[in-house]
Amino acid sequence: MPTTSAANDLPEVRVSARGAGRLEGGHVWVYRSDLQTTADDVPAGALVRVADQRGKPLGTALFSSSSQIAIRMLSAESLVQADLPALLRQRTRSAVAYRKLVVKDTDAYRVIFSEADFLPGLIVDRYGDLLSVQFLTQAMDSAPVRDVVLAALREELQPVAMIERVEARVRELEQLGARESQVLYGSATRAVFTMNGIKFHYDGLHGQKTGAFLDQRENYAAAAQYAHGDALDVFCYQGGFALHLAPKCGSVTGVDSSLPALEVAEENAQLNGREIEWMEANAFDLLKDYAAAGRHYDTIVVDPPAFAKTKRDLPAAGRGYKELNLRALKMLRPGGILVTCSCSYHVSEQQLQDIVVAAALDARRTVRLLEKRAQAKDHPMVPTIPETSYLKALILQAV
Ligand code: SAH
Repeated sequence: MPTTSAANDLPEVRVSARGAGRLEGGHVWVYRSDLQTTADDVPAGALVRVADQRGKPLGTALFSSSSQIAIRMLSAESLVQADLPALLRQRTRSAVAYRKLVVKDTDAYRVIFSEADFLPGLIVDRYGDLLSVQFLTQAMDSAPVRDVVLAALREELQPVAMIERVEARVRELEQLGARESQVLYGSATRAVFTMNGIKFHYDGLHGQKTGAFLDQRENYAAAAQYAHGDALDVFCYQGGFALHLAPKCGSVTGVDSSLPALEVAEENAQLNGREIEWMEANAFDLLKDYAAAGRHYDTIVVDPPAFAKTKRDLPAAGRGYKELNLRALKMLRPGGILVTCSCSYHVSEQQLQDIVVAAALDARRTVRLLEKRAQAKDHPMVPTIPETSYLKALILQAV
C-alpha cells in the first residue's frame, strides 16, 4: 500500500526478502513478482520510496506500472521529489566526465548507458554534433524528467540537434502511447562521424539501434590489427568491421540481409575511398554455399544479431553460433583470423568460447585464442548488474 507522509512525499513500495536481497547485492532491479504488495495505486513512472518487508528503507527508485521490472533503483538514499532534477543533472555530468576518461579516437560514443550510468531507462548516443536520445521507461519518459535531461545534455555537450529514437515495442511494454522518432532540438538529422580515423554517415531518423553499433568501436580497431589477405565481414550492417579491415586487406566482402544497411555501407566505403564488395544474402545460406564451393579467406568476422533474446532461446542460439563459426573456420586459410561476436547477454563468454572450440574440433582446425573482448568502455559494465555486460568478441587464429 502506498503511504505518504510530510517528511517524505513519495509513495512507498515494499519488496520481498528476495527483492531486498537483490538490491543488497548491488543490483538495481526488483521484479513485479518480488513486490510485497500489488502497488496497484502507485502512479505509472512515479518516484517511490523502497522498503523491505518490515519497512526498513532501502532507497529511492523509479516505478513502472507495467514492466516486469517494477522497480529501478536510483539511489540508496531516501530522496524527495524535489531532489530529482539535481540528481538527474549530476548523473548526466558524471556520465559525460566518465567518457572524457575512456573515449578516444572518435566523436561518436554512448554518452549515457541506462543502469550502467545509474540513469535507468535512459540511453544517449553522440554522433558528431548530434545526440540521439531514448527514453525507455515510464519514469524517464515523463515530461519533467525529459525536460531536465535534455537541458542537462545541452549544457554539457552543446549539440546542434537532439533526436529522439523510438522503439515501438519498448513503448508498448511500458504502456506508453505510440510515438514516432522525432527531432527534439535543432534541425539537423544527419552527420558524418569518425571512429579510429574512419568516417561514417549517420542518419538520425533511420537505421537500426540508435544508428550505428558503437559498442564494437574498440573491437573494430583490434580486428584491424590482425586483419590480412582476403576478408569476409558477415552480418556487416553499414560496414563497421569491413571499413576497418579494408586498409589492411587485399579484398573485402561484406554480407548482410538488409539492403538499406548495405546502401549506407557503400556510401561509407565511398566516403573513405575504399572498394568493398557488398552482398545482400542470408548469412547462413551464403556461408553454406561459399564453404561448399571451396572459397577461402584470411580474415572472417561473424557478428550476428542477438540469437538468444531470452534464456529459453539458448539451445537454438547455440546451434546458430556453432553453424556460423564452423563454416567460417572451414573457409579460413592457414594462419587465418576469425573475429566472432555475440551480443546476447544470455550467452556467456565461456559459452561462446565453448561453441567456437566445438566448431573448430568439427572443422578439424586448431585455434589460438588471441583476444577475449567485450563492449567498448563507453558502454560501461557494472559487475553487480550482470545485464550491463552483453557483448563478447573473441579473436582467434586458425593454424
Ligand atoms: N557488424 C555490424 C553489426 C551487425 S548487427 C557492425 O559492426 O556495425 C546484425 C546485422 O545482421 C544487421 O545488420 C542485420 O541486418 C543482419 N542480419 C540479421 N539476420 C541476418 C541473416 N540471416 N543474414 C544476414 N544478415 C542478417
